[in-house]
Amino acid sequence: MTQLQAARNGTVTGAMERVAERENVETAFVREQVADGQAVIPANVGHDSLDPMIIGREFGTKVNANIGNSEETSDLEGELAKLHTAVHYGADTVMDLSTGSDLDAIREANIEHSPVPIGTVPIYEAVKRVEEPSDITHELLLDVIEKQARQGVDYMTIHAGVLMEHLPLTDGRKTGIVSRGGSILAQWIEENGMENPLYTEFDEICGIFADYDVTFSLGDGLRPGSLADAGDEAQYAELDTLGELTRTAWDRGVQVMVEGPGHVPMDQVAEQVERQQRVCDGAPFYVLGPLVTDIAPGYDHITSAIGATEAARAGAAMLCYVTPKEHLGLPEQDDVRDGLAAYRIAAHSADVANGREGARAWDDALSEARYAFDWREQFDLALDPERAKSYHDQTLPGDNYKEARFCSMCGVDFCSMRIDQDAREDGEMADIETAGDERTDAGDSPAAEVNRPPVGTHDGASIPPGAVGDDG
Ligand code: SF4
Repeated sequence: MTQLQAARNGTVTGAMERVAERENVETAFVREQVADGQAVIPANVGHDSLDPMIIGREFGTKVNANIGNSEETSDLEGELAKLHTAVHYGADTVMDLSTGSDLDAIREANIEHSPVPIGTVPIYEAVKRVEEPSDITHELLLDVIEKQARQGVDYMTIHAGVLMEHLPLTDGRKTGIVSRGGSILAQWIEENGMENPLYTEFDEICGIFADYDVTFSLGDGLRPGSLADAGDEAQYAELDTLGELTRTAWDRGVQVMVEGPGHVPMDQVAEQVERQQRVCDGAPFYVLGPLVTDIAPGYDHITSAIGATEAARAGAAMLCYVTPKEHLGLPEQDDVRDGLAAYRIAAHSADVANGREGARAWDDALSEARYAFDWREQFDLALDPERAKSYHDQTLPGDNYKEARFCSMCGVDFCSMRIDQDAREDGEMADIETAGDERTDAGDSPAAEVNRPPVGTHDGASIPPGAVGDDG
């Protein structure tokens, strides 16, 4: 039975209880959100190492990290190292987008070691098993999907919304079809003169997903790849089909989230999220960025985190990170770290702005530690403690500087917080004293009592040699 079927039957599963504990909400609320399709718990029945989590707009905004090898780079050890880096820096889910060699071994190892849900795009493996993409058969696709479900994949991107009738709508685009899955399927449709097999076999796929409780991530194969193409007819025609498929999957008892763009001007992001929520009856929206400008290759973790913040503010439930290597190359461990930092900032900023319970406590605790010159507490509370400490230590490495009432940014004579505090102590500013002074004791807000990042939560997972966090 899937989490959706259980929820509809009024059953609270172990996964729902765990999720309620992690989100600090009532189990009944989790069950209702899952039963209504407003949230998903991607949890393949065969994924034994999973610590269940939930994706939905009423819960904390989640972040996905893409990893995976290509024909040119990486191996099993390297992929496990990337998985560990992604989890260590706070990924809520990880997608294995491998297109190189050893696909089964890498996927199985990832699932075995991962406490977070693992997602895949099965069309990538199908392409690897034929000479030409147009050689893919319906049977091969179903075979790959069934095998990956059996291996324990928690959610799969299925580009079933790319239809034959949509393809002419992409003709005038500036950047055509930029989704890998979308471009493969468009080629298949054109060369075979037949409808998208993921669409025609959707019922069969629902049956497989129901057996293993795999969650759909309905892919946006026609997403815009440039600002010029955002919100065009092709994108919205596909979205309408994704709405139809959402309802079909729900009818079959299968959980669904829907993927979104891509590249979208800032002023259109909220409108796009609202449209998806309307067309897909509130199914969780899982967005890639979006990038709000096309001009900054090398910095697209930033261009896209800006759009992701806006999207989460408007109701997107999960943000797929983008790394600095986007459009340029396969991300390495440092890129995974930078991408995740950008996206966890986006997710948290949106949670604060949306008034998510407990989110602001983290900011307040860090601010109090900062004003109290409690450097160790400040590092401990930081989104990336290792980076915060290493930057501080670059100029003031000694232990004595962990008590210092300044840092090298303004220097000892110009430290505004020290000057402000001395002035208050001298009574010169007594007339503007506020009750806020009492809150500067960081000891009042220990890290354990605020909404700490999940960094280190999964340190018990086996650490491949050389991975971030491997001290040995
Ligand atoms: S020196 Fe400047 S940056 Fe450093 S603690 Fe003081 S006010 Fe903050």
